[in-house]
Amino acid sequence: MGLVMRIDVLTLFPEMFTSVLGSSILKRAADPALHANKEDGPTDPPVSYHVTDIRDFANDKHNKLDKPPYGGGPGMVIQCQPVYDAVTTVESQDDRPATRILMTPQGRTLDQSLVEELASHPRLLIIAGHYEGIDERVIEHLAPMEISVGDYVLSGGELPAMTLIDSVVRLQKGVLGDETSADFESFSPGAQGLLDCPHYTRPPEWMGMKVPDILLSGNHGKIDAWRREQSRIRTQQRRPDLLNESE
Ligand code: SAH
Repeated sequence: MGLVMRIDVLTLFPEMFTSVLGSSILKRAADPALHANKEDGPTDPPVSYHVTDIRDFANDKHNKLDKPPYGGGPGMVIQCQPVYDAVTTVESQDDRPATRILMTPQGRTLDQSLVEELASHPRLLIIAGHYEGIDERVIEHLAPMEISVGDYVLSGGELPAMTLIDSVVRLQKGVLGDETSADFESFSPGAQGLLDCPHYTRPPEWMGMKVPDILLSGNHGKIDAWRREQSRIRTQQRRPDLLNESE
């Protein structure tokens, strides 16, 4: 079990995760059948997901845990106790300490260097808020890392949680094949923190537009140099702030 990253999600809408965690790369990353090694017997997949419904921890007989805010105003606030009980119960299911994360527009903005840092943790426990948010006291008590996906407001932390999960899982060893390695993508260390180069595939000419000759030349040294140059040009045009940072 040692190498498997465990990702817990606490949410009021667990069904939102079914299709995202059950499709494409995120699905394969957790599928034991795809990671079985014929010679050494079955090996564990790189990650395991555990989605928990915070509503299961409601202490109200109608399973209601969002209540009107003290002081008045619009919206509902998620109560402390169910969140606290969900976190402590889920944490006790595994020996490894969990890195607690709360998705909130008030947190540190997610970027590739934070993703890389989180990808090295053995276990993440992600709390998705909803409605107006969560009672401040349980946030203070649990002291999670607070992470935002950008300066805009969504109706819940579920999409931000999925964004974080996808970005972290694709960096786990064995998740992407060599053909789709994450090493040279935008913001990655392999790309020196720059944007990726443009990509082309068949046919060689489409609507009168040709694929750059160099890519058809078979000269890998020149192709690499061209790609690095394109990365630099794109970054200069679209995100000059990244060039200044890497200087
Ligand atoms: N009242 C809060 C916003 C609540 S939005 C405020 O103004 O700060 C409801 C929930 O959606 C939040 O609890 C959070 O979990 C999630 N959410 C909304 N926007 C987000 C963002 N940009 N990044 C991460 N989570 C976000």
